[in-house]
Amino acid sequence: MSDYPARAVVDLAAIRGNVRALAQHAPGAQVMAVVKADAYGHGLVPSARAALAGGATWLGAAQAAEALELRAAGITGRVLTWLHAPGAPFGALLEADVDVSVAGAWALDAVVDAARRTGRTARVHLKVDTGLGRNGLTPADLPDVLDAALRAQAEGAVEVVGIWSHLAFADEPTHPTVLAQAEVFADAVRLAETRGAHLEVRHLANSAATLTSPAVHYDLVRPGIAVYGLSPVPQLGGPADYGLVPAMTFEADLATVKTVGAGQGVSYAHAYTTTTRTVLGVVPVGYADGVPRHASGGPDHPGAPVLVGGRRVAVAGRVCMDQVVLDLGPGAVDQPGDRVVLFGTGADGGPTAEDWARCAGTISYEIVTRLGARVPRVHV
Ligand code: PLP
Repeated sequence: MSDYPARAVVDLAAIRGNVRALAQHAPGAQVMAVVKADAYGHGLVPSARAALAGGATWLGAAQAAEALELRAAGITGRVLTWLHAPGAPFGALLEADVDVSVAGAWALDAVVDAARRTGRTARVHLKVDTGLGRNGLTPADLPDVLDAALRAQAEGAVEVVGIWSHLAFADEPTHPTVLAQAEVFADAVRLAETRGAHLEVRHLANSAATLTSPAVHYDLVRPGIAVYGLSPVPQLGGPADYGLVPAMTFEADLATVKTVGAGQGVSYAHAYTTTTRTVLGVVPVGYADGVPRHASGGPDHPGAPVLVGGRRVAVAGRVCMDQVVLDLGPGAVDQPGDRVVLFGTGADGGPTAEDWARCAGTISYEIVTRLGARVPRVHV
């Protein structure tokens, strides 16, 4: 183990179990485990292997570099990568046998060029913007790009294997936009099939839709956050309600402990002041490690909770670049070196990434993906 006084312990059995649970939520669909952004901060390659061991048949990556890293690690099987800008290494992706998303006419041209250059057939998933207003072909632009792709298919450069899209309101399953997007999606699929595409996979569902909208599972679901055991719909249910277990525990070693009197201002700008003689502890992680500064504790905003010696205490005062102060309470007997859990499964009464998200005014996705690169990931 490294000398760093903090670590993110990633439970690979939890990832395997979460993928198994997701497959049960979507019987009849394959599971693409989304492993972009270093597997949501959990460590790309070990997490990807765990997801495959749990039954995922596809891996999803945003960036080409992530897909190539999976291949460099010897991971075989289907990988889709989807966020390309001009200059994307399509040749390398095709040589690595990676499926590619096409979300614009320029991308199709570049993929066809790469296919001709490498002598490979590009497996293409046409991304349709069914209403998210983000990446993807508008329904108006789809017919031309589809026809061009099918011409390239006739020449052997391309195989149109997928039509796919992404939802704007997946975490609000009853929002009318879910159905509206599904209708636009159905039109796109119908168009592709009518014009002669032999689609292997139609896919629309992220974690939230996998758990709450069976009508949009189609052939393949693309969960990300749920693979790591966090609920995409905390307002509807926590991980346990969906058979998920948070995979990451972020923990640190208490650095210093000292007794101070009442009225002691704590950390920058004294945003927190002790009200009694008490014990302060310093945790050697801060916003450079991804601890959100918005989780600071002040007079009108309680700090994020952590678990020390089996009890919950709150962050006192401002989160600094490398340090967080805790008010351990009067007479606390915690010692330097004691383990502090910032967030984990919650099973031990400790806080979760969702608790931190709530304190910091964000979502659990941001808590785990922003964990600093300098925090060692320990896979168990
Ligand atoms: N599909 C696409 C295109 C995505 O961008 C993402 C992540 O944002 C996912 C699937 C997985 O989403 P989630 O983590 O909400 O399951």
